[in-house]
Amino acid sequence: MRLILVGPPGAGKGTQATRLVAKYGIPQLSTGDMLRAAVAAQTPIGLKAKEVMDAGGLVSDEIVVGIIRDRIGEEDAQKGFILDGFPRTLAQAEALDQMLSEKGIKLDSVLELRVDQEKLVGRIINRAEEAKAKGEAVRKDDDPEVFKQRLEAYNRDTAVVVPYYAKSGLLTVVDGMQSIDEVTAAIDAVLSRLDENV
Ligand code: AMP
Repeated sequence: MRLILVGPPGAGKGTQATRLVAKYGIPQLSTGDMLRAAVAAQTPIGLKAKEVMDAGGLVSDEIVVGIIRDRIGEEDAQKGFILDGFPRTLAQAEALDQMLSEKGIKLDSVLELRVDQEKLVGRIINRAEEAKAKGEAVRKDDDPEVFKQRLEAYNRDTAVVVPYYAKSGLLTVVDGMQSIDEVTAAIDAVLSRLDENV
């Protein structure tokens, strides 16, 4: 199963991806997590990406496409994967298509978590408070001002990815304003219909 989760920051992609990992036994490929790991390890990519990420902007297509190309080639991704936070631009979506067609594989589904953007800042403030309460590090970009920039980047550069996949017939819209369990159930329903058609 090869899936993409798309939606603005705070839509619940990471939360749902974690559940899908447990259910389908395929890895979550989060470019955000990979970039944060590169920043923490101070690799050359991390050093380049840090400033852009801290400001809520987008890291270059070249860097993230390279990261995904390497990651998709790894052993554990051969049976499938869940892309979380990638593609984030039309150029990334096109690069992914190219990459997959070179490998002779296809995406099964693209799920858009559609949310009310007005309510997202509240979610992000909660996420930061929950992380603090658990003694975990709070993401630097989970700050209301930086979050606004991330949302702007989504609306400017990423939202176009949705009609791109709608055109190819892969897209299903899921109401991301429901409870976490309800969103999971809605995703399960979509994916079980896919299973039936395979
Ligand atoms: P996320 O964890 O998905 O919210 O990503 C955190 C940050 O990493 C984003 O705000 C971007 O700065 C960067 N990032 C993650 N994925 C991508 C991507 N596919 N393209 C460009 N930048 C990305």
